[in-house]
Amino acid sequence: MKRLLPLLLALAAGTASAAPGPAPGPALAPATGPLAAPAPAGAAASSRAELRREALVLTLLAYDHPVEAARSLRPMVQLAQSTGDAPLQAELTLALAAALTSGQGAAEAETLARQLDQDFPGHAQLIRAMVAERQDHPQAASELARKGLELLHPPCLWDRQEAALRESVEAGCDATATWLGLRLLALSQEATGAGASAITVLERHVALARQLKLPGLLALSLGRLAVAEHQQDQVEAGRQHLAQALQAAQADMPTLARIKVYEGGIAVARKDRSGQLRALEEAVSLAHSAGARRVEAVVRSNLSDFYLSAKQPERALAAARLALPALEEFQDRRMERIVRHNMSLALIQLRQFDAARQERRRLDAMRPELVGAAERSHELEELADAWAESGQWAEALKALLAEREQSRQVQEASRKAQLDELRLRYDSDRKSAELTLLQRDGELKARQVSNSVLAQRVGMALALLTALLLPLLVVMLKKVRLANRQLKANEALLRAQSERDPLTNLANRRHFMAVMEQHAANTFNGALLMVDIDHFKHVNDEHGHSAGDAVICEVSRRITQAVREEDLVVRWGGEEFLVFIPGVPPAQLQQMAERILFAVGGETVQTPDGPLHVTVSVGFAHFPLPPTGLSLHWEQAVNWADMVLYTAKAQGRNRAIGIATIDAHDTEALTQIQADFDAACISSRVQLLQVLGPTTP
Ligand code: GH3
Ligand code: MG
Ligand code: MG
Repeated sequence: MKRLLPLLLALAAGTASAAPGPAPGPALAPATGPLAAPAPAGAAASSRAELRREALVLTLLAYDHPVEAARSLRPMVQLAQSTGDAPLQAELTLALAAALTSGQGAAEAETLARQLDQDFPGHAQLIRAMVAERQDHPQAASELARKGLELLHPPCLWDRQEAALRESVEAGCDATATWLGLRLLALSQEATGAGASAITVLERHVALARQLKLPGLLALSLGRLAVAEHQQDQVEAGRQHLAQALQAAQADMPTLARIKVYEGGIAVARKDRSGQLRALEEAVSLAHSAGARRVEAVVRSNLSDFYLSAKQPERALAAARLALPALEEFQDRRMERIVRHNMSLALIQLRQFDAARQERRRLDAMRPELVGAAERSHELEELADAWAESGQWAEALKALLAEREQSRQVQEASRKAQLDELRLRYDSDRKSAELTLLQRDGELKARQVSNSVLAQRVGMALALLTALLLPLLVVMLKKVRLANRQLKANEALLRAQSERDPLTNLANRRHFMAVMEQHAANTFNGALLMVDIDHFKHVNDEHGHSAGDAVICEVSRRITQAVREEDLVVRWGGEEFLVFIPGVPPAQLQQMAERILFAVGGETVQTPDGPLHVTVSVGFAHFPLPPTGLSLHWEQAVNWADMVLYTAKAQGRNRAIGIATIDAHDTEALTQIQADFDAACISSRVQLLQVLGPTTP
C-alpha cells in the first residue's frame, strides 16, 4: 500500500519506546540500557544535569507508558519549584507535557502551557505544538514549534562542526525543549511533504542528540534522518545513517524495534520487498520480547499493510487483529483507524463482504479528522479499488464518488493553507513572484488529483467492458483511449514539474541527474561551477528565515542572469547552486565565474529585514580535465567542482577557484590527488586559478 509515510510518522509521533524489563511500578523505575539516566531521581537531589537527562529519558518512556512517565515527572517538577530554579522547572514541565500528550493528557498539557505563557513563552508554544501534533494538525504544530524554538532563551546553537552547539549545551541551553521542538518541526515537515527542509532539521536533531549522549535518542534521530534522506534520493547518506542508528540502538530492544521499522520503510523505497518483510518481522519480535506493546502494535499495523499489498489478505487480517487491542488500550485512535481500514480491505479481498461492511460502519463512526484529509482520500481510493477488484460495482462507485469529493476538498484546503502562509511570510515585493509559483503549484496539484481520478476511470471502464455487451464496446474503448491519452500527457507534465525547485523555480538536483543520465551517462563534457553563499547561516540567524529565503531567490536570479540562456542553473542544495555550461572554451570559464561573483556581490540584496551584503564562493572546472584530457563520470566531475569550492571557502570566501591543469594520466593518479588535494596543490601537481569577488557593494 502507499500508506508507508503515515505509518512511519505514527511511530515517530511518540518520542520513543518503553524500556525493556518488568512492568513499571507506581513510579517508573529509571531505564536500564542505553536510554538510562546516569542516576535515579530522588531525595539525594541529583544534580541539575542528571535531572534534565532523566526527564528526557522519561519522555522517551512515555510512548509505551505515558501515565507512569507523567507520574514520575511530577515530583521532579515540584523539586525544581521548591529550589526556586525557574528555568529547570520550565524544562521539566515541558517534559511532563510531552509525557501527557503521549497519553490522554492534552487538556492538562494545555493548562501547563498557560502557566508558562508569562515567563517562558517558548516552552508554552512548544507544548501547544505537541498538543496540535497529537490532534493531527501538522501545519499548526509546525508553526507553533518554530515559534517556540525562536522564543527559547538562551537557544541551543548549532553548526556543522557542532562546536557552537557543544558550547551552548555546556552553557546550559534548554536541550529538552530544543530536542522536542526540532522533533515536531521535522515531523510536520514530513507530514506536509517538505522533505528537503526536514533533512536540515533532522541533521540538527542528530547533532543535538550526540551532545546529549543518550544513545536511544541518537538512534531515533538518525533513523528518521535516514528515512528522510531516502525519500529525497540521498541513498548513500541514508544508508550510513541507518547503520549508525542500528548501532546506537543495539542494546535497547524497543528502540531497535523502531529503527527496524524505519529500515523496513527504507527497503520499500528501494523496492526491496523481502528486505521490508525481514525488517518488520525482526521489529515484531524485538518489540514483543521487550514488552513494548504500543511499538509492537504499530509494527503489526505496518505488517498488515505489507501483506495487503502482497495480496495476502489472511495474513493482513491476522496482523491487524493482533495490533488492535493495544491501540484501543492506548486510545491511539489514529492508528486504530488505519488498522480498521486495512481490516476492511482484507475482508473485501477475502470476499467476506458483510464483515467488511461492518468494519466500514465502525470506521465511519470514528472522528474523520483523526487522519489527514489527503490520507482519507487515499483510503477511499484503496477502498474503491478493492470493491472494484471483487466485482462489487455499486460500492466501488460510491467510494469513488466520495474520493473525488474528498480530493476536491484537499486541494482547496491545501491551496488556502499555502496562500495564508505566503501572506504571512512575504512582503509585497516577494509576494507577487511567489504567488505565480503558487498558482503553478496549485495547477500541479489539480493535475495530480485529476490524474488519480483518470486512473480510476481507466480501471473502472476496463472492468465494465468485460461485463457489458458488444454494442457498447466501441464507445467504451474510445473513452478509455481518450482518458489514457490525457493521463499520459498529464504525467509528462507532472514529471517536468517535479524537477523544479519550488522556492527559486530553478531546476532541482533530480532534473540535473536526469539530464546527465540522458546526455552524459558515461563521460562528462563541459564545465561545472559550484556556487555556495558565504556565511549564509548568519543571514538566517540574524535576519530570520524569510530573509534567508529572499536571499536564496535573489541569488538564484542573479546567477541565472549572469550565465547564458543555454546554461543550466540548478539549486543543488539549501544555498548551493550548480551551473552546468556545455561547450564553453576553458579560457572563458574564468570570466563566467567572475560574472557570477560580481552579479551576486556587486550590490546589496533587498530582504524583508532590509538590504544585505551577500557574497558567494565558486569552485569551477572544465572537463575533460586539462591538459591530459582525462574523462570522468559526471558524479566525479561534480566532486571536483565541490572540492575546489571548498578551497575557495578555505582561502577566505568571496572568490572563485578553478582547476587550470592537473598532472594525472590515469584515474588512479587522479584518485591519489583527490585523496590529498592540498598536498597536490602545494607540489604543483594541481595548478589553480583564482578570481576575486568585489570588495564592497
Ligand atoms: P559557508 O560560507 O561556509 O558556506 O557558511 P554557511 O553559513 O553558508 O554554511 P552552511 O552551508 O553550513 O549553512 C547553510 C545554511 O543554509 C544551513 C541551513 O539552515 C540553511 N538553509 C538551507 N536551505 C535553506 C532554505 O531553503 N531557506 C533558508 N532560509 N535557509 C536554508
Ligand atoms: Mg554557505
Ligand atoms: Mg552550503
